[in-house]
Amino acid sequence: MVKTTKLSAVINGKCPHCRRGDIFTGNLYGFNLQRTNENCGHCGQRYEIEPGYFYAAMYVSYAMNVTEMIATGFATYIFSGGNLEFDSLWLYVSVIFGGCFLLSPFNYRYSRIILLHWLSPRIGYNPIYDRP
Ligand SMILES: [Zn+2]
Repeated sequence: MVKTTKLSAVINGKCPHCRRGDIFTGNLYGFNLQRTNENCGHCGQRYEIEPGYFYAAMYVSYAMNVTEMIATGFATYIFSGGNLEFDSLWLYVSVIFGGCFLLSPFNYRYSRIILLHWLSPRIGYNPIYDRP
């Protein structure tokens, strides 16, 4: 029996319980809006294990946003050759917020994946379900 690794389940947005079912509908950057499935199509694990459970994912995505803003701000500083003039303020603002906008589907998806895979002790991996 081949076990799915946690890493590949996290990267591919698979169910934390069986690591086979999809957590989301649609693609990360597809034209159709991605949504969170209610239940795992493979093992039936309910993702929103209690009402409002995904509010906790907002804290995760907040932390991701802050990290990304610091990273894009720092990258802008590097690529503009250490330009910290007041006139280049708009450069920083547009790069940082543009980056946040582009990364928002990524943040939506991975904040929930992180919540389900690492911050949900009530959902554990069960290899019994990890088979076709
Ligand atoms: Zn599952």
